[in-house]
Amino acid sequence: MERLLESLPEHVEAAVEARDAWRRQATAGLEFLAQDLSRWAPGTVLRVAFLNGETEAHARIADATRQITDVCGVTLDFGLDPATGAYRRWTTDDTTHAAEIRVSFDQGGYWSLVGTDSTDPTLVGADSPLGGAPHQRSLNLAGFGGILPDDWAGTVRHEFLHALAFKHTHQNMRGPCEAEFRWEDDEGYAPTRNDRGVFIADEAGRRPGVYTYLGGPPNRWSRTRVDANLRTTESDDTLAGPFDADSVMLYQFEPFFYRTAPSPCAPTGNGIDLSAGDIRGLQMLYPPHDKELAARAETALTALSGGSESAGDGDPYRQRLLDVLRGLSEGRVP
Ligand SMILES: [Zn+2]
Repeated sequence: MERLLESLPEHVEAAVEARDAWRRQATAGLEFLAQDLSRWAPGTVLRVAFLNGETEAHARIADATRQITDVCGVTLDFGLDPATGAYRRWTTDDTTHAAEIRVSFDQGGYWSLVGTDSTDPTLVGADSPLGGAPHQRSLNLAGFGGILPDDWAGTVRHEFLHALAFKHTHQNMRGPCEAEFRWEDDEGYAPTRNDRGVFIADEAGRRPGVYTYLGGPPNRWSRTRVDANLRTTESDDTLAGPFDADSVMLYQFEPFFYRTAPSPCAPTGNGIDLSAGDIRGLQMLYPPHDKELAARAETALTALSGGSESAGDGDPYRQRLLDVLRGLSEGRVP
């Protein structure tokens, strides 16, 4: 029982929380959903770039995301160069965004900024390795440049869903998890650690609670941080479907985290494939219709322009039609 939970580094969590508090105040009374601010425009084409790692790893990651882009109106453009077989890269010296989603393998843990935070340079200080500026990582998959863990494809999809503005299923306000977590220690628990300092059951079999367990290594979370990551998000401006135990966005916890067994809060999916609920959520945020529209526009554009970028022949009607089609095919509002 030694689980390193997936979460953003603490300074970034704090920055997001401060920004969200400011936004709640600034937009009070406006009919605007927090999720509207963090989602990308439906039909959008998001560029992805890699900081490090080999082409083989890039290819497998790009492959795994197809399960997402196949079902919704978002395109992930990995910048595959057909001549060299190489994928798009970015560097920590970049001053313009090489990509909306900037992937790295060199930081600790798995995490991603949520939605449009990925391109928000005001979010975190410029010296942070992670943030929304061109030289900052927006999504990290620790060690994925080398040997991939068994459930790697599920982790890739989980993090890319964050990048598409998804939050965690266990924080769904309609879910059973808040009442299901064993927040406190068993009564009379005598703090006991293994040789790596991890809190374990004491000699009488009494177990540490979630706060105690996560307060020790390897996570070392404060109670505030546990609350921010695991407590229900009480927000009426977040789109939330019914609790989905099959979701790849549901944390896999150890059995001792739960009050009951089997727990209604425990994942029932394989942790690798998108659930029906994940797909519904994706299609709610990014209706697939827009992608079909983009494809139709692209076909029409190719047919009308004969493949030539400048084909307008000075006819303003024709020029405007081509501009509109180009916008639609690129996911821009013309
Ligand atoms: Zn997550």
